[in-house]
Amino acid sequence: MGASDLPEQPMPRAPQPGRQRAVTRRGGPGKAGPTKEHRRIRREARTVAAMVGIYCQGHHDTAGGHLCGECQALLDYALLRLSRCPFQEAKTTCAKCPVHCYAPARREQIRAVMRYAGPRMLLRHPLLALMHLIDGITNR
Ligand SMILES: [Zn+2]
Repeated sequence: MGASDLPEQPMPRAPQPGRQRAVTRRGGPGKAGPTKEHRRIRREARTVAAMVGIYCQGHHDTAGGHLCGECQALLDYALLRLSRCPFQEAKTTCAKCPVHCYAPARREQIRAVMRYAGPRMLLRHPLLALMHLIDGITNR
């Protein structure tokens, strides 16, 4: 008796529209499988490597995936920045990143690379280019 009149408790489910996905969450424990964030970072690394490759080939007459010293240094720099990106799993594309982690000179270099390689990515690496575009749209 009386068991059926439970006090009605409206579930407090305040919507939090402004809440960013996982701002400070670091590689959580116990989540099996390849994590989404690592896929994203790895993809970003492949994208930037491909872009620098295209740029170097077009500007410095290198071929076969070899980079000149200058471009290799730029790529190393970009990959280092990426590995230290504070966003990791919530990473957007660098072009939209609010933290400008590149030194100004490097930033100019990478922008030149992206301007040149961006359109060409669609031809050479359509899937990477597409995923890069989607990353930029879905995660900002
Ligand atoms: Zn080069």
